[in-house]
Amino acid sequence: MEQRPFSDHSYNQYLNEEKLMGSRCKKCDARYVPPRSLCIECYRSDMEWVEMKGQGKLAAFTAITIAPPFMMAQGYDRKNPYCSGVVELDGGGRVDARIEGVDLAHPENIKVGMPMKVKFIHREGSEKQETYLAFEPA
Ligand SMILES: [Zn+2]
Repeated sequence: MEQRPFSDHSYNQYLNEEKLMGSRCKKCDARYVPPRSLCIECYRSDMEWVEMKGQGKLAAFTAITIAPPFMMAQGYDRKNPYCSGVVELDGGGRVDARIEGVDLAHPENIKVGMPMKVKFIHREGSEKQETYLAFEPA
């Protein structure tokens, strides 16, 4: 397997390739998405890349009404909020991601624990393609 450094840059490159990759501690099997080069469970740095299945359960979510500038550029604001959440991945690891395909006008329909699947959102940036990680109800 090729060895890319365990960095946000590598993680974003993998997202461009529609791969959700994290790092796995060879000692204690802890998983990190985005990857860490040092395990915060056992403090070893013996890590390897592992591809996540892209399925999991919604662990937490929040509606964002005050959007950061790059999201405002995509049309999100107080009248059109978007959902951000944490997904507990099947096989281990938790990841922050945008949550799509949910009705923020009826947030009572969004349930912690609901099954989610990964969705890669590609967007042409000024210099290069950027990919955002999102999840939607499975
Ligand atoms: Zn470890």
